[in-house]
Amino acid sequence: MPESPYLVIHSERVRENYRALDAAVAVRGDDKARIRFAVKASPVPELITLLDAEGAEFDVASIGEIELCLGLGVAPEKLCYGNPIKKAADIARAYAAGVRRYAFDTEDDLLRIVEHAPGSEVECRFLASTPASQTPFGTKFGCSPAEALRLLVRARDLGLVVAGPYFHVGSQQLDPAAWRIGIQQSGEIAEALAAKDIHITSVNIGGGLPISYAEAAPALGEIAAVVNAAAAEFLPETAGLVVEPGRALVGNAGTIHAEVVGVRIAPDGRRWVYLDIGRYNGMAETENEYIAYRFVTERDGDPVDEAVVAGPTCDGDDVLYQRTRVLLPTTLRAGDRITILDTGAYTASYSSVSFNGFPPLTVHVSGAERE
Ligand SMILES: *Cc1c(COP(=O)(O)O)cnc(C)c1O
Repeated sequence: MPESPYLVIHSERVRENYRALDAAVAVRGDDKARIRFAVKASPVPELITLLDAEGAEFDVASIGEIELCLGLGVAPEKLCYGNPIKKAADIARAYAAGVRRYAFDTEDDLLRIVEHAPGSEVECRFLASTPASQTPFGTKFGCSPAEALRLLVRARDLGLVVAGPYFHVGSQQLDPAAWRIGIQQSGEIAEALAAKDIHITSVNIGGGLPISYAEAAPALGEIAAVVNAAAAEFLPETAGLVVEPGRALVGNAGTIHAEVVGVRIAPDGRRWVYLDIGRYNGMAETENEYIAYRFVTERDGDPVDEAVVAGPTCDGDDVLYQRTRVLLPTTLRAGDRITILDTGAYTASYSSVSFNGFPPLTVHVSGAERE
């Protein structure tokens, strides 16, 4: 057994998730959506190879992610450099590596793409008027819809190929109506572009597809029904869909195996349970207690009581849950094993190199041949 803590990813589950999404999202009957995996959710070589073979495209955010994919034999045409925040030098390197698809949300970045990736295909990310998700982007990304229209016209005029508008409803979005709003706004942009003789080929509806943690999420079928209906209602015949999942492909395929380091009653009377995994070696998404992971222990069945759950480092912020009501067996003690469910997304990829001397979370892929 590997040393605790570690993450196990079941690759066959990732394949099932991919195929379920592929079957669920389609514009007008059988015009299937293109699925573009957001690599940052789980940049694990075995999974990239598996998804490549399934037919996925890849959303990459940096030269590092581009090199990772190309190094595994992914064709550069399957990559989209989707991060709107990029240096001119990185665009030039991506272009030299064969990347011909980019997303942007400012005129500055558009001009950098024109200069360093001439003739490429572009998507413009706008900030859709959607409800907040569980881990929201706020206003960090996306221009106004009116600005997206202006910039896409400019992109055409500057010799780029216009793919279409692009929005992301925020990660772990629990309201299916969010996609309807984004697709409707995309349709309005597409219509205005058509009046300027620009006919979009795709609408990128981003990621954000939720999975069930302690709180249940709407089923994929429910969201897909909303997406498919909105696409048929609001988008022009020329436009296909691109969907860009991270969490929904890998989240439920992973389980973290960890250990209880200690249990104590603090001076305020609360019970604290310290684990060998925390905010800095895999549990980054407990920031603001956004994601409520479920724990399984070997003492489940014993009486339970509330616990504050904390990580192992000497950092006051390395606390997973102190406001969220977490119930753990009262018998839990140092040395007990504990598993954390649905931890395949945004865990290992977020873990620090060695904060406080704790190594990054190791990943073990089961169900796939290792290279
Ligand atoms: C992170 C990210 C995604 C994936 O988001 P999920 O909520 O994990 O599906 C998709 N697109 C972009 C541009 C992202 O940054």
